[in-house]
Amino acid sequence: MGNDSCSIDTTIKANDPELVSKSARPEGTIVDVNGIKIGGKEIVIMAGPCAVESEEQLSKTAASVRAAGASLLRGGAFKPRTSPYSFQGLGKEGLEMLERAGTETGMPVVSEVMDTRQVETVARYVDMLQIGSRNMQNFPLLKEAGRSSLPILLKRGMMATIEEYLNAAEYLLSQGNTQVVLCERGIRTFESSTRYTLDLNAIPVLKQRTHLPVIVDPSHGTGNRSLVPAMSKASLAAGADGLLLEVHFRPEEALCDGSQSLYPEDFGMMMRDLGKIAEAIGRSIHVL
Ligand code: PEP
Ligand code: MN
Repeated sequence: MGNDSCSIDTTIKANDPELVSKSARPEGTIVDVNGIKIGGKEIVIMAGPCAVESEEQLSKTAASVRAAGASLLRGGAFKPRTSPYSFQGLGKEGLEMLERAGTETGMPVVSEVMDTRQVETVARYVDMLQIGSRNMQNFPLLKEAGRSSLPILLKRGMMATIEEYLNAAEYLLSQGNTQVVLCERGIRTFESSTRYTLDLNAIPVLKQRTHLPVIVDPSHGTGNRSLVPAMSKASLAAGADGLLLEVHFRPEEALCDGSQSLYPEDFGMMMRDLGKIAEAIGRSIHVL
Protein backbone atom coordinates (compact mmCIF):
# COMPACT_ATOMS: atom_id res chain seq x y z
CA MET A 1 0.00 0.00 0.00
CA GLY A 2 1.34 3.39 -0.95
CA ASN A 3 1.16 6.44 1.18
CA ASP A 4 -2.16 8.16 0.49
CA SER A 5 -0.71 11.62 0.90
CA CYS A 6 1.45 11.00 -2.18
CA SER A 7 -1.57 10.98 -4.43
CA ILE A 8 -3.08 14.20 -3.10
CA ASP A 9 -2.55 17.12 -5.47
CA THR A 10 -0.72 19.74 -3.43
CA THR A 11 -0.04 22.10 -6.33
CA ILE A 12 -0.37 25.59 -4.95
CA LYS A 13 -3.73 27.12 -5.77
CA ALA A 14 -3.86 30.74 -4.83
CA ASN A 15 -6.18 33.54 -5.66
CA ASP A 16 -3.63 35.40 -7.74
CA PRO A 17 -4.34 38.51 -9.79
CA GLU A 18 -5.85 37.52 -13.12
CA LEU A 19 -3.30 38.62 -15.70
CA VAL A 20 -0.22 37.07 -14.04
CA SER A 21 -2.03 33.96 -12.88
CA LYS A 22 -0.97 30.65 -14.43
CA SER A 23 -4.55 30.02 -15.49
CA ALA A 24 -4.43 33.05 -17.80
CA ARG A 25 -1.78 31.31 -19.96
CA PRO A 26 -1.14 27.74 -18.87
CA GLU A 27 1.27 27.22 -21.77
CA GLY A 28 3.62 29.89 -20.32
CA THR A 29 4.87 33.20 -21.68
CA ILE A 30 8.00 33.56 -23.74
CA VAL A 31 9.60 36.97 -23.43
CA ASP A 32 11.50 38.17 -26.49
CA VAL A 33 14.42 40.50 -25.81
CA ASN A 34 15.52 41.56 -29.26
CA GLY A 35 15.43 37.99 -30.53
CA ILE A 36 16.56 36.26 -27.32
CA LYS A 37 13.71 34.20 -25.99
CA ILE A 38 13.30 33.76 -22.23
CA GLY A 39 10.89 31.17 -20.87
CA GLY A 40 11.33 28.42 -23.45
CA LYS A 41 13.47 25.32 -23.34
CA GLU A 42 16.69 27.32 -23.54
CA ILE A 43 18.19 28.88 -20.43
CA VAL A 44 19.32 32.48 -20.89
CA ILE A 45 22.34 33.91 -19.10
CA MET A 46 22.53 37.67 -18.46
CA ALA A 47 25.81 38.97 -17.11
CA GLY A 48 27.87 42.09 -16.64
CA PRO A 49 29.15 44.47 -14.02
CA CYS A 50 26.89 45.76 -11.26
CA ALA A 51 27.55 49.29 -12.51
CA VAL A 52 28.95 50.66 -15.72
CA GLU A 53 32.14 52.37 -14.52
CA SER A 54 34.26 53.13 -17.58
CA GLU A 55 34.66 52.29 -21.24
CA GLU A 56 37.53 49.89 -20.43
CA GLN A 57 35.76 48.16 -17.55
CA LEU A 58 32.62 47.59 -19.59
CA SER A 59 34.19 46.55 -22.88
CA LYS A 60 36.60 44.08 -21.25
CA THR A 61 33.89 42.59 -19.03
CA ALA A 62 31.39 42.44 -21.90
CA ALA A 63 33.85 40.67 -24.22
CA SER A 64 34.64 38.09 -21.53
CA VAL A 65 31.05 37.25 -20.66
CA ARG A 66 30.16 37.05 -24.34
CA ALA A 67 33.05 34.65 -24.98
CA ALA A 68 31.96 32.47 -22.05
CA GLY A 69 28.38 32.18 -23.32
CA ALA A 70 26.26 35.01 -21.90
CA SER A 71 23.46 36.19 -24.22
CA LEU A 72 22.52 39.49 -22.60
CA LEU A 73 24.71 42.25 -21.18
CA ARG A 74 23.55 43.81 -17.93
CA GLY A 75 25.02 46.94 -16.38
CA GLY A 76 23.62 49.68 -14.17
CA ALA A 77 23.83 53.35 -15.13
CA PHE A 78 21.42 54.60 -12.46
CA LYS A 79 22.31 52.77 -9.25
CA PRO A 80 20.09 52.47 -6.15
CA ARG A 81 22.76 52.82 -3.42
CA THR A 82 22.11 52.56 0.29
CA SER A 83 24.34 55.56 1.00
CA PRO A 84 23.86 58.83 -0.87
CA TYR A 85 27.68 59.21 -0.80
CA SER A 86 28.36 55.96 -2.69
CA PHE A 87 28.90 55.90 -6.46
CA GLN A 88 25.52 56.58 -8.01
CA GLY A 89 26.27 55.41 -11.55
CA LEU A 90 27.32 57.27 -14.69
CA GLY A 91 23.76 58.04 -15.79
CA LYS A 92 23.30 58.88 -19.47
CA GLU A 93 27.01 58.48 -20.18
CA GLY A 94 26.83 54.95 -18.78
CA LEU A 95 23.86 54.16 -21.00
CA GLU A 96 25.81 55.32 -24.05
CA MET A 97 28.70 53.02 -23.08
CA LEU A 98 26.30 50.15 -22.55
CA GLU A 99 24.69 50.66 -25.94
CA ARG A 100 28.12 50.69 -27.61
CA ALA A 101 29.26 47.56 -25.76
CA GLY A 102 26.04 45.82 -26.76
CA THR A 103 26.56 46.69 -30.42
CA GLU A 104 30.23 45.65 -30.35
CA THR A 105 29.49 42.26 -28.79
CA GLY A 106 26.13 41.61 -30.43
CA MET A 107 24.38 41.30 -27.06
CA PRO A 108 21.08 42.98 -26.24
CA VAL A 109 21.45 45.16 -23.13
CA VAL A 110 19.56 45.52 -19.86
CA SER A 111 19.72 48.41 -17.39
CA GLU A 112 17.87 49.61 -14.34
CA VAL A 113 15.34 52.41 -14.24
CA MET A 114 14.63 53.90 -10.79
CA ASP A 115 12.30 56.80 -11.49
CA THR A 116 9.34 57.50 -13.76
CA ARG A 117 11.30 60.43 -15.22
CA GLN A 118 14.09 58.08 -16.36
CA VAL A 119 11.94 55.59 -18.27
CA GLU A 120 11.95 57.43 -21.60
CA THR A 121 15.71 58.08 -21.52
CA VAL A 122 16.74 54.57 -20.43
CA ALA A 123 14.37 53.06 -23.00
CA ARG A 124 16.23 54.85 -25.81
CA TYR A 125 19.43 52.92 -25.05
CA VAL A 126 18.44 49.48 -23.81
CA ASP A 127 16.60 46.37 -24.99
CA MET A 128 15.13 45.53 -21.59
CA LEU A 129 14.29 47.68 -18.55
CA GLN A 130 15.22 46.43 -15.08
CA ILE A 131 13.15 47.39 -12.08
CA GLY A 132 15.18 46.76 -8.94
CA SER A 133 14.33 45.19 -5.63
CA ARG A 134 13.94 48.51 -3.85
CA ASN A 135 11.43 49.71 -6.43
CA MET A 136 9.30 46.59 -6.74
CA GLN A 137 6.43 48.45 -5.10
CA ASN A 138 7.09 51.83 -6.67
CA PHE A 139 3.64 51.85 -8.22
CA PRO A 140 3.97 54.97 -10.40
CA LEU A 141 7.21 53.48 -11.82
CA LEU A 142 5.50 50.15 -12.49
CA LYS A 143 2.69 51.94 -14.33
CA GLU A 144 5.09 54.01 -16.42
CA ALA A 145 7.29 51.01 -17.29
CA GLY A 146 4.18 48.96 -18.03
CA ARG A 147 3.28 51.49 -20.73
CA SER A 148 6.69 51.05 -22.39
CA SER A 149 6.96 48.64 -25.29
CA LEU A 150 10.22 47.18 -23.94
CA PRO A 151 10.41 43.91 -22.01
CA ILE A 152 10.86 44.30 -18.27
CA LEU A 153 13.00 42.45 -15.74
CA LEU A 154 11.17 42.82 -12.43
CA LYS A 155 13.25 41.87 -9.40
CA ARG A 156 11.61 40.64 -6.24
CA GLY A 157 11.55 43.10 -3.37
CA MET A 158 13.92 41.92 -0.66
CA MET A 159 11.06 41.94 1.83
CA ALA A 160 8.20 41.12 -0.50
CA THR A 161 6.01 38.06 -0.27
CA ILE A 162 5.22 36.11 -3.43
CA GLU A 163 1.73 37.60 -3.35
CA GLU A 164 3.10 41.14 -3.25
CA TYR A 165 5.55 40.25 -6.00
CA LEU A 166 2.84 38.88 -8.27
CA ASN A 167 0.75 41.97 -7.66
CA ALA A 168 3.69 44.15 -8.68
CA ALA A 169 3.97 42.16 -11.92
CA GLU A 170 0.21 42.56 -12.38
CA TYR A 171 0.74 46.35 -12.41
CA LEU A 172 2.99 45.95 -15.45
CA LEU A 173 0.61 43.61 -17.25
CA SER A 174 -2.37 45.80 -16.42
CA GLN A 175 -0.76 48.58 -18.48
CA GLY A 176 -0.57 46.34 -21.52
CA ASN A 177 3.02 45.10 -21.23
CA THR A 178 3.00 41.31 -21.42
CA GLN A 179 6.79 40.96 -21.72
CA VAL A 180 7.76 40.56 -18.08
CA VAL A 181 10.49 38.36 -16.58
CA LEU A 182 10.56 37.73 -12.82
CA CYS A 183 13.85 37.55 -10.90
CA GLU A 184 14.37 36.03 -7.46
CA ARG A 185 17.32 37.86 -5.88
CA GLY A 186 17.24 36.90 -2.21
CA ILE A 187 15.16 38.01 0.73
CA ARG A 188 15.94 39.32 4.21
CA THR A 189 15.88 36.73 6.94
CA PHE A 190 17.50 36.36 10.38
CA GLU A 191 20.50 34.73 8.68
CA SER A 192 23.49 37.04 8.56
CA SER A 193 26.18 34.79 7.10
CA THR A 194 25.11 35.76 3.60
CA ARG A 195 23.97 39.14 2.26
CA TYR A 196 20.45 37.83 1.61
CA THR A 197 18.85 34.40 1.71
CA LEU A 198 18.31 33.15 -1.81
CA ASP A 199 14.77 31.84 -1.78
CA LEU A 200 15.02 28.82 -4.06
CA ASN A 201 11.47 27.87 -3.05
CA ALA A 202 10.32 30.88 -5.01
CA ILE A 203 11.29 29.23 -8.30
CA PRO A 204 8.85 26.29 -8.24
CA VAL A 205 6.27 28.37 -6.36
CA LEU A 206 6.30 31.05 -9.07
CA LYS A 207 6.37 28.41 -11.79
CA GLN A 208 3.17 26.94 -10.37
CA ARG A 209 1.41 30.25 -9.89
CA THR A 210 2.34 32.34 -12.91
CA HIS A 211 3.01 31.92 -16.62
CA LEU A 212 5.83 34.49 -16.55
CA PRO A 213 9.44 33.32 -16.97
CA VAL A 214 11.50 33.16 -13.76
CA ILE A 215 15.22 33.84 -13.52
CA VAL A 216 17.53 33.98 -10.48
CA ASP A 217 20.24 36.40 -9.36
CA PRO A 218 22.64 34.41 -7.14
CA SER A 219 25.08 37.36 -6.99
CA HIS A 220 22.82 39.51 -4.81
CA GLY A 221 21.23 36.40 -3.31
CA THR A 222 24.53 35.43 -1.66
CA GLY A 223 26.64 38.60 -1.74
CA ASN A 224 29.74 36.43 -2.03
CA ARG A 225 31.35 35.26 -5.27
CA SER A 226 32.52 31.97 -3.74
CA LEU A 227 28.88 30.94 -3.26
CA VAL A 228 27.61 32.00 -6.67
CA PRO A 229 28.47 28.86 -8.71
CA ALA A 230 26.71 26.51 -6.25
CA MET A 231 23.57 28.64 -6.12
CA SER A 232 23.56 29.14 -9.89
CA LYS A 233 23.60 25.38 -10.42
CA ALA A 234 20.89 24.91 -7.79
CA SER A 235 18.74 27.57 -9.47
CA LEU A 236 18.84 25.80 -12.82
CA ALA A 237 18.15 22.45 -11.19
CA ALA A 238 15.10 24.02 -9.49
CA GLY A 239 13.68 25.18 -12.82
CA ALA A 240 14.93 28.72 -13.42
CA ASP A 241 14.67 29.98 -17.00
CA GLY A 242 17.84 31.99 -16.70
CA LEU A 243 20.37 33.67 -14.45
CA LEU A 244 21.51 37.22 -13.81
CA LEU A 245 25.16 37.29 -12.79
CA GLU A 246 27.53 40.04 -11.78
CA VAL A 247 30.95 39.78 -13.43
CA HIS A 248 33.78 42.34 -13.32
CA PHE A 249 37.13 42.20 -15.10
CA ARG A 250 38.75 43.37 -11.83
CA PRO A 251 36.28 42.82 -8.98
CA GLU A 252 38.69 44.12 -6.34
CA GLU A 253 38.51 47.54 -8.03
CA ALA A 254 34.73 47.55 -8.54
CA LEU A 255 32.85 50.67 -7.41
CA CYS A 256 29.83 48.56 -6.53
CA ASP A 257 29.26 44.95 -5.40
CA GLY A 258 32.85 43.78 -6.00
CA SER A 259 32.76 40.97 -3.43
CA GLN A 260 29.89 39.24 -5.19
CA SER A 261 31.22 39.82 -8.71
CA LEU A 262 32.81 36.85 -10.46
CA TYR A 263 36.19 37.02 -12.15
CA PRO A 264 35.77 36.33 -15.88
CA GLU A 265 37.71 33.05 -15.53
CA ASP A 266 35.38 31.85 -12.76
CA PHE A 267 32.39 32.82 -14.85
CA GLY A 268 33.77 30.76 -17.74
CA MET A 269 34.33 27.72 -15.55
CA MET A 270 30.88 28.02 -14.04
CA MET A 271 29.28 28.27 -17.49
CA ARG A 272 30.73 24.90 -18.41
CA ASP A 273 29.17 23.34 -15.30
CA LEU A 274 25.85 25.05 -16.01
CA GLY A 275 25.81 23.44 -19.44
CA LYS A 276 26.00 20.02 -17.76
CA ILE A 277 23.16 20.84 -15.36
CA ALA A 278 21.04 22.09 -18.26
CA GLU A 279 21.63 18.87 -20.15
CA ALA A 280 20.76 16.77 -17.12
CA ILE A 281 17.33 18.43 -16.91
CA GLY A 282 16.61 18.27 -20.63
CA ARG A 283 17.38 21.92 -21.38
CA SER A 284 20.30 23.80 -22.91
CA ILE A 285 21.97 27.16 -22.49
CA HIS A 286 21.12 29.67 -25.21
CA VAL A 287 24.12 30.58 -27.32
CA LEU A 288 24.32 33.71 -29.44
C1 PEP B 1 21.49 45.13 -9.22
O1 PEP B 1 20.97 44.30 -9.99
O2 PEP B 1 22.67 45.54 -9.32
C2 PEP B 1 20.71 45.56 -8.04
C3 PEP B 1 20.87 46.74 -7.49
O3 PEP B 1 19.89 44.56 -7.63
P1 PEP B 1 18.71 44.56 -6.56
O4 PEP B 1 17.72 45.57 -7.05
O5 PEP B 1 18.21 43.15 -6.63
O6 PEP B 1 19.31 44.90 -5.23
MN1 MN C 1 24.66 44.88 -7.87
